[in-house]
Amino acid sequence: MARILIPTPLRQFTGKQDAVSAAGATVGEVLDALAAAYPDLRKQIFTADGALRSFVNVYLNDEDIRYLARSDTPAAGGDTISLVPSIAGGSAALAPPAAAEALTNDEILRYSRHLIIPEVGVEGQQKLKAAKVLLVGAGGLGAPLGLYLAAAGIGRIGIVDFDVVDVTNLQRQVIHSTRDVGRKKIDSAAEKMLAINPALRVTKHETALASGNALEILKDYDLVVDGTDNFPTRYLVNDACVLLGKPNVYGSIFRFEGQSTIFACPGGPCYRCLYPEPPPPGLVPSCAEGGVLGILPGTIGLIQATETVKLILGIGEPLVGRLLLYDALAMRFRELKLRRNPECPACGEHPTITRLIDYHEFCGVPSPRSAAPAQESGVNEGEIGVTELKAKLDRGDNFVLIDVREPQEYGICSIPGSKLMPLGELPKRIGELDRTADIVIHCKSGGRSARACGLLRQAGFARVRNLVGGILAWSDKVDPSVPKY
Ligand code: ZN
Repeated sequence: MARILIPTPLRQFTGKQDAVSAAGATVGEVLDALAAAYPDLRKQIFTADGALRSFVNVYLNDEDIRYLARSDTPAAGGDTISLVPSIAGGSAALAPPAAAEALTNDEILRYSRHLIIPEVGVEGQQKLKAAKVLLVGAGGLGAPLGLYLAAAGIGRIGIVDFDVVDVTNLQRQVIHSTRDVGRKKIDSAAEKMLAINPALRVTKHETALASGNALEILKDYDLVVDGTDNFPTRYLVNDACVLLGKPNVYGSIFRFEGQSTIFACPGGPCYRCLYPEPPPPGLVPSCAEGGVLGILPGTIGLIQATETVKLILGIGEPLVGRLLLYDALAMRFRELKLRRNPECPACGEHPTITRLIDYHEFCGVPSPRSAAPAQESGVNEGEIGVTELKAKLDRGDNFVLIDVREPQEYGICSIPGSKLMPLGELPKRIGELDRTADIVIHCKSGGRSARACGLLRQAGFARVRNLVGGILAWSDKVDPSVPKY
């Protein structure tokens, strides 16, 4: 029997178990036995014709089976097989700066604990001073990154962000304070970083990183630190870094788990070598949907900060070709080998990605610009607004209201009369619903319920509507006593 480690997003299909055992002489047989024991898992990890889906990587112990014998890789009792899905995170040293600027006496005093380390010294501190680092995102990962990189004496830090500080950010985004709620994150972050280190030069890029501006923004920096929270931007950052030849210090987080590595270093792999295609929309929840332990981005962000400083100094063993996995609940780090895929469309021998593409389309998610007007202009076909729902409830209409959030969210707040049916359980509980019934589906803000509506329509339900804006809109427009989260 081999032991199979199940990552958080897939545990909903294994009865919440984080590890299961299955028998088989090869990895393929073991996975087949796994899929037979947990049928819901099968379509998550295999395509219709039985091939492994490419957003899930399979490791036998610490080796990627794509570089062994794939499904035919022999598996013995005592082996550990890891399923590693993508989650919403040569010499690697940078070229030395052309002219190193001397340190001032103030700087010598400020960085004295660095200067007396032989591996850093005056020369190393000068490299940090000359370095230009771009932080993509001033959120959970960007917070510790910004604070520590500013303190460490990085000369110039660019920040790309267009978001505003929200009270729900404060549980983890420690660069922002309670009094910053409502301010632009970029202003709040820059202020804190300059308070730590007034000599720092901060460049604010107040925009969403997009295909049209990414190369222009990235080109002036030595390396890029990816602190984004969505797949379109991850692929965009990856491709732009590969095209420009800039190292991409990657980190990602979900609930209690994180990943980190460095992509796009000479000879090393890129994000597409690891995950050639994104997960289907909705399979891997975002932190907003699935939650995240507030401390987790601190741990992962500081791993990224450490690797950033090491790359600039050209010391130590960079996290290139190694995917570091962190499990906060088990308090365990694991390391998997990553290789550059010669067939990779971005960094392979014959790349097909020679310019930036439409990443929202690639990831199958609506672009923020196209999604926004629909929400503002109100209700489209197949949707219902919160005031209309309230009227239906008040009239006592005969309909079914389904809440597709998770039980812990239902515990925070709910709409009276709703029936809890978490999105992940919907496919197997579909028999509980009447195909001819008038059905309204809601979630927190409308994303998951839209997917649930699509699922029911595909299954032949004709009268299904999505509640626009979810329970957040209900709280805003109908019942302010309903807490927002
Ligand atoms: Zn690649």
